[in-house]
Amino acid sequence: MMRRLLEVHPGTIRVLHLEDDPQDAELIADLLREDGLDVEVRCVEDEAGLRAALADFQPDIVLSDLAMPGFSGHAALAIVREASPRMPFLFVSGTMGEETAIEALRQGATDYILKNQPARLGAATQRALIEAAEQRARDQAESELVRSQRYESLALLAGGLSHDLRNILQPLLIAAPMIAERAGTDPSVRKFATMIETCAKRGMDMVASMLSFARGARQINPHLVVAQLFRATDLLLQGTRPRTMALEIEVEDEDLSVAGNETELQQCLLNLCLNAIQAMPPDGTLTLAAGRSELGRGDILEDEAAVPGEYVRLSVIDTGMGMSEEVRARLFTPFFTTKEGGTGLGLLSCRRIVENHQGVLRVHSRPGMGTRFDIHLPLRNVLPAAAQERAFDGAGRHVLVVGEEASRLSIIADGLRLHNYRCTVMRSGAAALVFLDDAPPADGEGGGPPDAIVLDSEMQLLPVGRVLTELRYRHYEGSVVLAGDPGELPESARSGLALLSVERALAMPELLAALERGKDATAG
Ligand code: ADP
Ligand code: MG
Repeated sequence: MMRRLLEVHPGTIRVLHLEDDPQDAELIADLLREDGLDVEVRCVEDEAGLRAALADFQPDIVLSDLAMPGFSGHAALAIVREASPRMPFLFVSGTMGEETAIEALRQGATDYILKNQPARLGAATQRALIEAAEQRARDQAESELVRSQRYESLALLAGGLSHDLRNILQPLLIAAPMIAERAGTDPSVRKFATMIETCAKRGMDMVASMLSFARGARQINPHLVVAQLFRATDLLLQGTRPRTMALEIEVEDEDLSVAGNETELQQCLLNLCLNAIQAMPPDGTLTLAAGRSELGRGDILEDEAAVPGEYVRLSVIDTGMGMSEEVRARLFTPFFTTKEGGTGLGLLSCRRIVENHQGVLRVHSRPGMGTRFDIHLPLRNVLPAAAQERAFDGAGRHVLVVGEEASRLSIIADGLRLHNYRCTVMRSGAAALVFLDDAPPADGEGGGPPDAIVLDSEMQLLPVGRVLTELRYRHYEGSVVLAGDPGELPESARSGLALLSVERALAMPELLAALERGKDATAG
């Protein structure tokens, strides 16, 4: 136990001792030191002393006699609890009947020791300190989680709002200059139009920053090994999972992997595990299991974006109290919680994360029978190891990269150049079209239009739909890779081009694979 204590509480332990008998105080301090504890003891005997010591000595643990002249241990306990609810508090007394002892524990004392049983003192002190440290770690992990859940739901809100706002502002941006143009000789109309335009632009800037907050820096790792995710979850749960609670990890295949954002998936597993731990008695069993799964048409709900096919299933299974039908029906309602101090946001954020990965989240639970959450993530995202290592070679082909965020463009261009592509970067759709129109005719030596165009879907100056239409008018024959969701484009913008898409939070292997596919598609 001593080793464990040193792990959670290295260094000197500050003991505050409430005791009116100096000889007893001396004896207790000696006993603690004999047990190998590195202690600094402050002894006080009344309320004023106690309050002063709590403030300036900042004890790690309080030992208290039951009765002192003019002051009682129970009063001391109440004062300590008020100041610091988690502070370990041990009664050390010469006389203590069973009833007094029980009453003391009921009032919130951590333990009690009789002076004629000094052998227990060291052990009880150590245990109390270890438990307090573990409790602190739990509190911290939970508040950390609550913080990130709040952040998640804020991001959800910001994402939804900014799309709506953009749709409202867009017409103002188009209309205001038109009004100014037609203002004729009336300077005040022109002034008002300019004012509208300035405000709309400012609004758009705010929308852009809200959107980038909502998206965060989402990095997709194409090869997240599930067994490693589970082991990391186990580590993160240390300190939260009671020692008596078993954790079992069952992975069908050590190499099983998924494509996804590591932080988000980790967070999702952690949320599910914390719920499981909170639903179980301390001797329950938490199981993390993974294997392949298959979802048919009937397994996917209407409002889910997932498609039938092969999946990887990550399950969090507990032997806890389970859920009633009513609870199950409301699980994903924002702020729905059955816990005192619960946020009711954990599962909502889990579902959002899983949906962001084109997966589905399922729950199986019955009262008294435990609960099982299944996360199904698409297997099609799993790049076969061979494809991942396959050396993509651009063979000097020319790619035009178009977007409005300079840093993003230069990262993409650098990545492509590393793979032997020639790259031209254009900072707007309009600039790209001018570049195409001015391209020298093909002469077999690098002239002619670029072999492929990579288009960022988020462009304000000339929206991507317009750029695509213009490309079609120009009969552009190379492949076009859209970084973003093609589903948001009108059908007319999608037709007539060799259009491919990758996620906007793109990973280089995906982009390279798309360019490769584009080459095959346009070659014939
Ligand atoms: P919170 O944990 O803050 O209550 P969650 O969104 O994580 O919020 O969970 C919502 C509710 O769902 C919980 O309050 C609980 O009633 C129920 N719940 C979630 N997971 C489990 C589980 N493993 N076993 C039983 N009930 C659960
Ligand atoms: Mg929760």
